[in-house]
Amino acid sequence: MAVSELNNLTTDLIPNRALGQNFLVSQRAISFIVESLQLCPDDLVLEIGPGTGNLTLPLVQKADFLVAVEIDRRFQPILQRKLANFLGPKVRLIWDDILNIDLLNIVLELGGQDKAIKIAANLPYYATTNIILKLLTELPSAKMLVLMVQREAVTRITADSGTKEYGPLAVMVSLYGNVKTIMKLPASAFEPQPPVESTLLKLTAAKASLLKDPISAQSFVSFLLYAFRGRRKQFLGRLRREGYVVKDSHQENELISYLEQSEIRRDFRVEELSPNQLFGLHNYLRQISCFPSD
Ligand code: SAM
Repeated sequence: MAVSELNNLTTDLIPNRALGQNFLVSQRAISFIVESLQLCPDDLVLEIGPGTGNLTLPLVQKADFLVAVEIDRRFQPILQRKLANFLGPKVRLIWDDILNIDLLNIVLELGGQDKAIKIAANLPYYATTNIILKLLTELPSAKMLVLMVQREAVTRITADSGTKEYGPLAVMVSLYGNVKTIMKLPASAFEPQPPVESTLLKLTAAKASLLKDPISAQSFVSFLLYAFRGRRKQFLGRLRREGYVVKDSHQENELISYLEQSEIRRDFRVEELSPNQLFGLHNYLRQISCFPSD
């Protein structure tokens, strides 16, 4: 079905499946997303993938300022027409790949340091993990995220240590704050209908989140990506084999006493460690300059 039929617009765009273009047509879900963001005058909203603007327009009507990042320029005429009354002072559209831009700089340029950042997206499902990792790494001080994801992704996002789904994504989400399912949606809430069911998640920053600083969040996520590439291997053995720590050195002895203090076995595998233990281990390895991703 062409986009014109979905949105009553004089265009005949064919949705691009490879870009996850399943437009949200349930008005109930759209209103619920806007309501869930609890928008206040000082909020800066970041929307990923505005598409034809189904969610963007109601967001702009409530938000003080909105920045939206869309990869597909075919939506430019539709969005400019829909948002004509708001462009400039209240809305900035960025035509780029969310995964390739410097989100922190963009938000700072827009005065984001004085605003509460709230993120909304009906995510393109093919890039769910990479987009959430990027958001939590570059904007760890965001106040909340309301994200539509494929139902199956929820297991990966909320996985506990020791399970096979546990990985960098679940660790980052857990350290960021709380995650809650706030709506379950059938395929019929979208056009064209995706071959999967969907879940709306609300992630809210913990008051004392360990991830507040983007530089250490960036370093931590690089560490996690390295560490989980060998999730089933004994991590200390791997650090030795790859030359990051030298057996029988002073450094190794210090590392072993750190593990003992943190109640981590010497033959641990990263998938067994809790998010807090992983964060502590990363900081320790950085401090003694045995940091694998440097
Ligand atoms: N927000 C619209 C809605 O709910 O109807 C569209 C949501 S659709 C599921 C996902 C949107 O993300 C599409 O507009 C798609 O073009 C856009 N998109 C896909 N990959 C992207 C990327 N890497 N960077 C920015 N936008 C992307």
